[in-house]
Amino acid sequence: MTPERIAAADRDIIAELATSDEGYKNLVVLCDKFGSRFGGTPEDRQAVEYMLGKFKEYGLENVHAEEFMHNAWVRGPATVHTVSPEKAEFKCISLPYNVASSAEGELVYVGHGTAWEYEAAGDSIKGKIVMANAKSPNWFPRGVHRAEKIGRAIAGGAIGFIWMRWDAGLLEETGAARWLKPVEVPTVGISREAGEAMLRMQSKGPVRVRIDTTDKVRPAPVWNVVADIKGRKNPDEMIITGAHYDGHDIAPGAADDGAGAMVVMEAARALARHKDSIGKTLRFILFPMEVIGLGGSFNYCAMHENELDKIEMMFTLDGAGRSFAQPGINMAGRWSECFNYFKSIGKDMKQSIQVANNISMYSDHFPFQLKGVPAGGVREFSDTSTGTRGWGHSAADTLDKVSSRALEGSATFVARVLLRMANREDWPAKRKTEKEAQEILGKDYLEVLDLEKRWPFSDWIPPLVK
Ligand SMILES: [Zn+2]
Repeated sequence: MTPERIAAADRDIIAELATSDEGYKNLVVLCDKFGSRFGGTPEDRQAVEYMLGKFKEYGLENVHAEEFMHNAWVRGPATVHTVSPEKAEFKCISLPYNVASSAEGELVYVGHGTAWEYEAAGDSIKGKIVMANAKSPNWFPRGVHRAEKIGRAIAGGAIGFIWMRWDAGLLEETGAARWLKPVEVPTVGISREAGEAMLRMQSKGPVRVRIDTTDKVRPAPVWNVVADIKGRKNPDEMIITGAHYDGHDIAPGAADDGAGAMVVMEAARALARHKDSIGKTLRFILFPMEVIGLGGSFNYCAMHENELDKIEMMFTLDGAGRSFAQPGINMAGRWSECFNYFKSIGKDMKQSIQVANNISMYSDHFPFQLKGVPAGGVREFSDTSTGTRGWGHSAADTLDKVSSRALEGSATFVARVLLRMANREDWPAKRKTEKEAQEILGKDYLEVLDLEKRWPFSDWIPPLVK
């Protein structure tokens, strides 16, 4: 691959993505035709067929779907009402992996539900129904995920859990209560306004709440969608770019993460126009059921255990393509040796690339990271984080939240980075051992994994519910 040839491919990729609306059109089909693509639904299978067809149409190689079985979750009606000091009913939704169950008890509010707030609450949550809100406060030293908040409530003896959305607007917020397996106590989401009303009631005396839910878990097949551009020079060195294509069942999941999935497909489409300029193998994967426990990526790692050594880098595009902020790269888990490498790629692209090194355990790079594979994400960096998901995980994660220009911008960035990575011999990162990968997480994060009941790795993929 001569530098002239790569430069010509680079220019064509920029021009092609800037003058095509293919990515946004695909996102519209994904959302309007296949709904949430929630694992185990007929629409999920239809979306898989559609994406396979598109990859083939774009000239990708080795296009196929890899089937595996998982615990599908089926939502049923749920109710929350206060029994005393006043009787009132509040609108609510079950959180994924809740199963048909009931609980009644006193309401205890733990605010943002950080480790510090749970520590302060101490034994007071035992035998009670715990409510936490969905904000991850910036005064706590790291992000605090919903799964951790629920894990702490259950570990402390709570008999039920209420997930109060932080952003106003009468929307309930969803999110898996456990990862790929049923949760032990009834777990529901309510709006900020409903939560505030319950808290106001506490001024009249202890509030007794009742939760009733009717959801089910049943085994169902799902598919990882895989497509390659085989390396023309070093086919055994591989760079993986993936994103989850599923959304939560209550919304089309346009931003989370339909947009990211379409960025993957657009980058693949643009690069497939220049197969002969690709030195190392580029693999593109669209993962199912990320929203309920990173199911696609965990199963991929388990099914491809003997190929993990080949992977130089695994990028997750969970959050790409949503906004106009500057795209950058986050290496999840101490890969500082890659900083200069990406900076020099940025220099070649005449664009400064922001590189971060933040541990995150909540997207599809994480199984790879635990296996010691260099992993991270491409996403838009912004300095104005609210500590909430915005429209994400609510019924309002709809097409109007994604701009076609942002999608195109992300796809261009990703394709240009991949074009360069596929043709350079100086990749600096070596795969770590699983022990080293765990040590990087450190005691605090391992404790969180334990609270979330997703540790050790071998227990991640739980047995199928009968
Ligand atoms: Zn996501």
